[in-house]
Amino acid sequence: MRVGIPRSLLYYKYLPFWKTFLTRLGAEVETSPLTNKKILSRGVEVAENELCVPVKAFYGHCMALRDNGVDAIFVPRVVSVEERAYTCPKFLGLPDMIGAVAGPLGLPPLLTPRLNQREKPREFKWQLIDFARRQFGRSKLDAVAALESARLAQRSYQAGLVGGKKPLDLLPNSRFNVPRSRPPAEQRKRIGLLGHPYNIYDGYITQNLVARLEEMGAELVLPEMTEHHELMQAATDVPKQLYWSYEKEIMGAINLWTENKAVDGVVYVLAFACGPDSMIQVLIEHRARIHDVPLMSLIIDEHSGEAGLITRIEAFLDMLMRKKKTAAA
Ligand code: SF4
Repeated sequence: MRVGIPRSLLYYKYLPFWKTFLTRLGAEVETSPLTNKKILSRGVEVAENELCVPVKAFYGHCMALRDNGVDAIFVPRVVSVEERAYTCPKFLGLPDMIGAVAGPLGLPPLLTPRLNQREKPREFKWQLIDFARRQFGRSKLDAVAALESARLAQRSYQAGLVGGKKPLDLLPNSRFNVPRSRPPAEQRKRIGLLGHPYNIYDGYITQNLVARLEEMGAELVLPEMTEHHELMQAATDVPKQLYWSYEKEIMGAINLWTENKAVDGVVYVLAFACGPDSMIQVLIEHRARIHDVPLMSLIIDEHSGEAGLITRIEAFLDMLMRKKKTAAA
């Protein structure tokens, strides 16, 4: 069976795991191409208007996979990835949202394992064993072996990220965000690039933000460079615990960066109409302010243009440079 994985949303977090798991179950895995104009505009056309841009792009990626003739599309329902916390509601409803248009769009069947470990840790294991049995007719032993390989692949991906690689360096065919040239190391500024990986690393949606920042002299510091448990620990430094696991990672990153003076400034990328991010945006801006770390919030949607983005980044980096000179004088 040829199974398509859309190159959007949790692709940037879990591709090594999903791809290895499905391959070990006997699937031939294919990913959709990099987001492009056609993919995004098709997604925008069929998705509800009030959705965030990465979810709109997800629709377009499903259509690209349909055009490539895959037999099924992998759309997991990721409810919770840890105890007593949830992911964004969009991830809970993704199979329903895509399922609602699957008929009219002629999409192939969706593979939608439900992943929920809110009540019990390690619940994923049983949910995926059940998925392997129902969808691929595989035994428990086969599923456990596939899971073990998938875990190793994911661990090696995460070790690469903590070691300083970007997801774009490690995921297949991702070299879209490559800087054309970079200023010498002594002229660079340490910029914390904050946000969900699918917002930051989708080069089409963010107008090549990663490359543009590096070309203009940013030495990027990314949440993925910190061990997950450290981010989670640092995220507890808020008056009330957050509900959403992925927002906790973002909160943990800004807390660590400001506490350790690890960055000269922060660029926070968030999607227009994103509920969870709009809640933590206030906390993030407050945190940056009390630690005197300049922060620029970039809100992206399907209309974001490159010219406006470049002007804003240039102004932000100039301001950081002036701040540095004033402090040194
Ligand atoms: S967290 Fe925000 S950007 Fe991400 S899927 Fe949910 S609404 Fe969209």
